[in-house]
Amino acid sequence: MENETLRKLPSVDSLLSHSSSTTIVAEYGRDRVVSAIRREIDSARRLLLKDKSAPIPGSEGEWIALASAKLAESARPKLMKVINCAGVVTHTNLGRSIISEEAARAAHNAAISNVNLEYDLAKGARGDRDDLVEGLICELTGAESATVVNNNAAAVLLALNTLAFGKEAIVSRGELIEIGGSFRLPDIMAKSGCVLREVGTTNRTHLYDYENAVSGNVAIILRAHTSNYRIIGFTTQPKDSELAEFARSKGLPFMVDLGSGAIADITRFGLPYEQTIGDTLRSGVDLVTVSGDKLLGGPQAGIIAGRRDLVTLIKKNHLKRALRCCKMTLAALEATLLLYLNPEKAARSIPTLRLLARSLDNVRATAEEAARIISRMFGQEAEVSVIADTCQAGSGAMPELDMPSYSVAIRHKKMSADGLAKWFRGRGIPVIGRVKDDLFRLDMRTVETLEWLEE
Ligand SMILES: *Cc1c(COP(=O)(O)O)cnc(C)c1O
Repeated sequence: MENETLRKLPSVDSLLSHSSSTTIVAEYGRDRVVSAIRREIDSARRLLLKDKSAPIPGSEGEWIALASAKLAESARPKLMKVINCAGVVTHTNLGRSIISEEAARAAHNAAISNVNLEYDLAKGARGDRDDLVEGLICELTGAESATVVNNNAAAVLLALNTLAFGKEAIVSRGELIEIGGSFRLPDIMAKSGCVLREVGTTNRTHLYDYENAVSGNVAIILRAHTSNYRIIGFTTQPKDSELAEFARSKGLPFMVDLGSGAIADITRFGLPYEQTIGDTLRSGVDLVTVSGDKLLGGPQAGIIAGRRDLVTLIKKNHLKRALRCCKMTLAALEATLLLYLNPEKAARSIPTLRLLARSLDNVRATAEEAARIISRMFGQEAEVSVIADTCQAGSGAMPELDMPSYSVAIRHKKMSADGLAKWFRGRGIPVIGRVKDDLFRLDMRTVETLEWLEE
């Protein structure tokens, strides 16, 4: 009886020899096709054993179509384009900065060809990959020297490991930051092999707190830009210039982890002042570290810029080898920095800057067009409107600043706000919105074109 039922199942070989198997074998390889077909047959067998009239494919073509659909599904890349309407311009979970066309082209070209990554073309001899961008960073910031690693966390780790291994680093209690859970300053310091010497209090740290902490075992004074929060009210911290002067008088290096750190003065793009690498170095700071993919608007990278003798030591640290960037990153970073040589061009071409500086009228026009399309999409099922909203720069830049924006707000007759959020995430090109005040919104500051809505 059981055998009778199972006799309806085809053999793997018979399906493999069917003409329509040829295309999927060419696409996915014989081994994966065999496994996929076997899985379909096995699952049909289990169904039939439970219920002998369970529906199973009727023809060989149908069996192969089933296996083919599963194979296509498993071959789809997990990393995919999404539309950021979350109200955060450089959203860490969504890949932070979108890089410029120029930077993307440079990365693409570097990816598909050999490049002079560590090759001095004039001498025909081995070169240093830092040479590709060091000159540009120095020109843009006034630094004496610079080096680049995988990200800013790596920059801080490498600098501390080089300059303070087995020694103490003084940090104010008001600056023991955590960025998005994965970067906690005390943890990075511990991993670098240096000992955290906390001084002052959360809201107030004075120069004398640093003074009292200096001992023979202190190797560096570290300041971390309080990227994603501000301490307001009854507060005090010595200025960079005061700490720099103090550090110099003690013969200690002074490093600032600037985090988001702009490389250009962004007030010229109509944005609020954000401390630049150049301003920081000019105030007497010895070393500055920043991320490449925050306000700078480039690829993920960490830049260390400052005093030549210190950067030279950092470059010689063997840990640098483990933290270095690949050719694609360096190509994209170089192209991004080249754009900054002409700030007008940077403002036009670097998406992060362009989106932050975008006029509110322009954002509203996009929101209105998007609302028309979405309204057509849902018909009578939903109420779609354009509302004034606020968004954030993200990645710790300008944390206290709510930037004006416009959102498309949607109320659906059958779906809750969370249900709508899920529905938009489930589209072919997922759209990431947010729910605020129980209302589902798509923030439009980060959206310049709408073709993704039509698909
Ligand atoms: C973002 C940030 C970091 C971490 O930088 P990554 O490039 O993400 O590694 C470290 N310090 C500060 C102050 C930051 O803002």
